[in-house]
Amino acid sequence: MIRLFKRVLRSEDSHESVVECRRCGANLESADVDHCPACGSSEVASYRL
Ligand SMILES: [Zn+2]
Repeated sequence: MIRLFKRVLRSEDSHESVVECRRCGANLESADVDHCPACGSSEVASYRL
């Protein structure tokens, strides 16, 4: 479900988005990551600005 969400975001356009780990709250630089490098959680959320 998360991958589908990101795919939708990516297909929209090139607006900046914030990618955040839902577990530890770390901000990730890229929406291409599948999991948080800080805690290893796969629950990564993307938000459009
Ligand atoms: Zn994390």
